[in-house]
Amino acid sequence: MSKSLSAPTADADPEDHARLTIDLSALSDNWRLMARKSGTARTAAVLKADAYGTGLEPAARTFHAAGARDFFVATPAEGGRLRPIVPDARIFVLSGMWAGSERLFFEYDLVPVIASEEQLAVFMAALSEGADHPCALHVDTGMNRLGLTVADAVALAGDPARPASFSPVLLMSHLACADDPLNAMNRMQLDRFRAARKAYDGIEASLANSAGIFLGEDFHFDLTRPGIALYGGAAVNGMPNPMTPVVKAEARVLQVRHARAGETVSYGAAALLARDSRIAVAAIGYADGYLRSLSGAGVPLRQTGLSGASGYLHGRPVPLIGRVTMDLTHFDVTDLPEGAVKAGDFIELFGPNMPIETVARAGGTIDYVLLTGLGRRYGRHYVEKQR
Ligand SMILES: *Cc1c(COP(=O)(O)O)cnc(C)c1O
Repeated sequence: MSKSLSAPTADADPEDHARLTIDLSALSDNWRLMARKSGTARTAAVLKADAYGTGLEPAARTFHAAGARDFFVATPAEGGRLRPIVPDARIFVLSGMWAGSERLFFEYDLVPVIASEEQLAVFMAALSEGADHPCALHVDTGMNRLGLTVADAVALAGDPARPASFSPVLLMSHLACADDPLNAMNRMQLDRFRAARKAYDGIEASLANSAGIFLGEDFHFDLTRPGIALYGGAAVNGMPNPMTPVVKAEARVLQVRHARAGETVSYGAAALLARDSRIAVAAIGYADGYLRSLSGAGVPLRQTGLSGASGYLHGRPVPLIGRVTMDLTHFDVTDLPEGAVKAGDFIELFGPNMPIETVARAGGTIDYVLLTGLGRRYGRHYVEKQR
């Protein structure tokens, strides 16, 4: 299994100003690796936000072909889009059911992950006389985001007034600090989750996101819920990323400029050239999700000591220079041989040669943000690699 997408991008489209190459075989390899690491637990796939920007339909088909039958989305509308793609799978909706959204759950056979007492009441009211529809129950073990408190969940389980038709198919919680394996919060949440689970004997349980899977068997329970790792992201801090890169983002060079020492670059005239420079102007900007905080100079973040992001071109990193603008970004290509860079070349923004987590860090953010923020203007190319 090769980790590099060394072959040139398939089907380069001359009309693309920027393109994404999405490696579907990497998606299935990553799902299988998460399934192996999940041991005896089943492995779901988290597909929220258009499958972390990779495209809901191709991603869902790929995970389904690899063996996934449990899927998580954020909203009922996402569940509705997913249903025809995976007709035989269980689809959990993490935001749960609110008044007004009920129809989508019944029409598309979606499982609401009940997040509060109010949602539970909406769900119970929506079940018509004797009707049966599955739900999941979210307990909050430390995020203070969604879910009943452990105490309320335990009380609900033992409440004689609890509706007989309320029997969740899954009890779940979410980890706050799983990317930091030594954080004491992980054990604390595990203990609280176990306490809640005791009250829901015989019901499947799920705790681990991508990073949680790496915390080991104790955290796996019956079903794991990887997201970012499937898409090639680095789930755990301070550990080499074992996942295969999925997305390569590239932008076309529109022009190579020569500028003199002492001149400035981009808005704010904030990047002052210390040497005579060659600058490649690439057709990518913050409107494509290439964040302004990646800028080489001239945004407040740079005063924190972060140096800004780099692209990758003709075998070496090329640093951003000046502020990222809406549609255009400057890269310093002075260290490449004269004439090496031409209009029409594609700069890799992130991908196999420029890890997405490195780019994200340079912009003061995380890979999740770069993936889910990919704009609509890219040409999208799906490839299957032989491994
Ligand atoms: C997004 C999400 C996941 C997936 O998390 P990753 O860190 O991307 O693996 C799992 N569970 C819940 C509740 C989520 O919101």
